[in-house]
Amino acid sequence: MMPSYLRVALPTPLRRLFDYLPPQAIDPKALIPGIRVRVPFQSRTLIGILIEVAQESTIPDEKLRTALEILDDVPLFPQDIYRLCQWAADYYHHSLGEVLAAAMPVLLRRGKAAERKVKKTSKEIAITPETPPELNEAQAVAVNTICAAQKTFRIFLLDGVTGSGKTEVYIRAINEFLQVDQQVLVLVPEISLTPQTIERFRARFAVPIVSLHSSLSEQERLQGWLAARSGDAKIVIGTRSAVFTPFAQLGLIIVDEEHDISFKQQDRFRYHARDLAIMRANMNHIPIVLGSATPSLESFLNVKRQRYDYLSLPVRAGIAQLPEYKLIDLRRTSQEEGLSETLLGAMQAHLAADNQVMLFLNRRGFAPVLYCTQCGWIAKCRRCEARMVYHYSPARLHCHYCDTKNAIPTRCAQCNESPLQPIGLGTQRLEQALLKHFPDVPIIRVDRDNTRKKGAMQDLLTQIHSEKKAILLGTQMLAKGHHFPHVTLVGIVDADAGLFSVDFRAAEQMGQLLLQVAGRAGRAEKPGTVMIQTRHPDHPLMQLLLHQGYHYFSQALLAEREQSTLPPFSYFALFRAESYKAQSANEFLTAIKEVCYSAASKVTLLGPTPALLAKRKGLHCQHLLIKADKRSTLQEVLKNVLQHIERLSAHPVKWVLDVDPVEVI
Ligand code: ADP
Ligand code: ZN
Ligand code: ZN
Repeated sequence: MMPSYLRVALPTPLRRLFDYLPPQAIDPKALIPGIRVRVPFQSRTLIGILIEVAQESTIPDEKLRTALEILDDVPLFPQDIYRLCQWAADYYHHSLGEVLAAAMPVLLRRGKAAERKVKKTSKEIAITPETPPELNEAQAVAVNTICAAQKTFRIFLLDGVTGSGKTEVYIRAINEFLQVDQQVLVLVPEISLTPQTIERFRARFAVPIVSLHSSLSEQERLQGWLAARSGDAKIVIGTRSAVFTPFAQLGLIIVDEEHDISFKQQDRFRYHARDLAIMRANMNHIPIVLGSATPSLESFLNVKRQRYDYLSLPVRAGIAQLPEYKLIDLRRTSQEEGLSETLLGAMQAHLAADNQVMLFLNRRGFAPVLYCTQCGWIAKCRRCEARMVYHYSPARLHCHYCDTKNAIPTRCAQCNESPLQPIGLGTQRLEQALLKHFPDVPIIRVDRDNTRKKGAMQDLLTQIHSEKKAILLGTQMLAKGHHFPHVTLVGIVDADAGLFSVDFRAAEQMGQLLLQVAGRAGRAEKPGTVMIQTRHPDHPLMQLLLHQGYHYFSQALLAEREQSTLPPFSYFALFRAESYKAQSANEFLTAIKEVCYSAASKVTLLGPTPALLAKRKGLHCQHLLIKADKRSTLQEVLKNVLQHIERLSAHPVKWVLDVDPVEVI
């Protein structure tokens, strides 16, 4: 018999497949593409996916190693997931083996059996489902339009102000798809949103629902994944990586808060889950709904270009009203620890009426800077070009970039003269100030520092829902998606951060965040107020956002982007290179630049330049931005660069390629 070769995708950064000889005495019938195989690789063993059984190899037999073990009887993924992974590997120029590994639950990556442990008692179907509210006209139109698109590829942008009943639209549409035996995938941006969303779904459906997110145990994730693959789980709700969940009969995809940049993976395999979800809907010939109160500029442009169908929910559902906005000019009011008199007064009034107040400050820790009043010295991280953040509890200096933690110095490190002063405002400092002003009111802080433990976020949410009057204080973790019916006043402590950033997306993100935070106010029968503290109340973008609304704001931003041919009117890819000597990173990117030029195509190259955070974890970081007017041009150039890349780096340089980056600084 002719020897055959196993061509395997392995989880290594190398962008190619690897040939092996089949394990001894294996039945050739067992060698089906799509199964996992364990193989020796350098001095380790790796688990990869068999891509094909080839009759020839370019490597002589005596140099080939033999695969150790076959791990599956049947292919791990259905065909559509392979196609999606293959497409993603091509588009993001990432190794197929790493893409496939990212698409499987950790236990499968480690070689555990893809085996279901079916529980004997099915506890999930106990519910008489809750009675649904009657849909308003805009909701009914949205549901009907989505349902009419069954089994066809269509993209809907569901643009509905916060509290307009988007989730209700999802639920009704899902119901119709379940009736015809199809499964539904719901992608949500963040883990903190998932418990509430899942509870709402569970209350309304008498079918098995699986949630996939990082606070589950690995075994739970695997079981959820398998339940979706078998068709038993009818609804899957998950964060970013759930876009790779296999289904027996997928009929509809929903991407909630489609504008949220946490759908973009920010390390290694830098995919955008929303964009992959659209590709998946395309491959599966099914509809996809992108929902948001603040759609991305990309999606608005796609509506304009008639690639997406537009569905709008212009008013809040039921009797809830949109909140009223008030700007507080920080230059003209006295303030204490970041809180103006006006805001404090309003807080008192709302709390006296037994309502909840939410304060938003997107900076954790106590103070962003520790400063010597004598000589001006600032505590900086030794490994990064960044300031150490002063944390109050536990007391320490903390670098938010490399996680270095130091004791708080008692004297200045430079002049040794005077004690140091924390400058600026973080959530912990605000919490201290609030304790002084409101000693009798429960203060609930929500940020990354106090939600790290498993279940901590859920406990805080439970507390918020059980208290009457309370002050909720937090970073963007608190801003998104939550439904807090008792919140009537939202205070944005510092609205200015996004107005003057060098990143071209900063204004868009500032507007989205502001409206998302504001959207937490007055979501039930009580009307809401939003107070925005700023030093730039006349800034045209702020004026536009608050007086004309998000539509005008986003159209103005789109016009600006078109003028300066920035995305979505052009396409970006970013090479980041890191090295211990800044020069090495620079030379490497310069070499890439030359390859790009020699490709003689129409791309614009910006850089290499030091990143905004020029040094991180002891490594110098440089950027090269490639801009093209067409996706295909960009792809062509990248393909060319990557063919040469291994010989371009003479010095040790760590590099990554980010296609469609969401941050370019
Ligand atoms: P969104 O997802 O757009 O923020 P939700 O779907 O969470 O909005 O709806 C906000 C609130 O309004 C929820 O309490 C929901 O139950 C309620 N709601 C939704 N649709 C209706 C309706 N047609 N009539 C009455 N209440 C509704
Ligand atoms: Zn650091
Ligand atoms: Zn000093």
